[in-house]
Amino acid sequence: MAQPRTGRSLRYRRVLVKLSGEALMGKNGYGIDVEVLNQVAADICEAADLGLELCLVVGGGNIYRGLAAATDGMDRVSGDYMGMLATVLNGLALGQALEARGRSARVMSAIPMISICEPFIRARALAHLADGHLLVLVGGTGNPFFTTDTTAALRAAEMGCDAIFKATQVDGVYDSDPAKNPKARRYDALSYDDVLRQDLRIMDGAAIALARDNRIPIIVFSIKEKGGLAAVLQGKGSSTTIS
Ligand code: UDP
Repeated sequence: MAQPRTGRSLRYRRVLVKLSGEALMGKNGYGIDVEVLNQVAADICEAADLGLELCLVVGGGNIYRGLAAATDGMDRVSGDYMGMLATVLNGLALGQALEARGRSARVMSAIPMISICEPFIRARALAHLADGHLLVLVGGTGNPFFTTDTTAALRAAEMGCDAIFKATQVDGVYDSDPAKNPKARRYDALSYDDVLRQDLRIMDGAAIALARDNRIPIIVFSIKEKGGLAAVLQGKGSSTTIS
């Protein structure tokens, strides 16, 4: 395992990385692609080697979303609980992929399921970080009608994180869809209010408002680029900062 650097030259001491279920999905369009999972885990380990504390919030959209299920006639609350359980599947997969790379990871769930992982208890989570473990936070907020983006903002505030790194499939926020418009332009920076007013849909409104109220910057970057997380943590590569 690479020796962690001191982290003294880094701007951040503790950050939260939000990984959507989509980040683990690969080309199949559903579930967990082991190759993609291992690549994401390798990137996280590389970032952790920079010497900062990492909290990872994992989504579940690659498996189940309550809102989509509700449009198909499923009860929304049941669908949301199923979505939260989907985040546990992803988090367990990510936790073991990190451990397989020699990194110690602690999976903590907002919904207690003590024979599978630890319940999220803030004091214990802080102690894990102090002991050098990576934190994989699953189960969303534990409540229906929320998303894991809101969970990311909530946990970042609760855990005293310096920034939220929102992993997406593109390297920031664009003025139009870069997959459809080759002339689409990436924003270097946006304010929280720009994002809310223009309804840019990078994260849901509750997440943006929570980050704004707690003055936590959000850096949107691409998880598809190998080494992309370590790069943006060091202020390199392209991204969009919302602050
Ligand atoms: N969810 C929820 N409460 C939460 C977090 C998540 O009910 O606090 C449910 C919701 O149904 C959501 C699903 O879990 O659609 C998966 O989370 P999300 O859509 O945020 O996953 P991502 O888009 O990040 O993969």
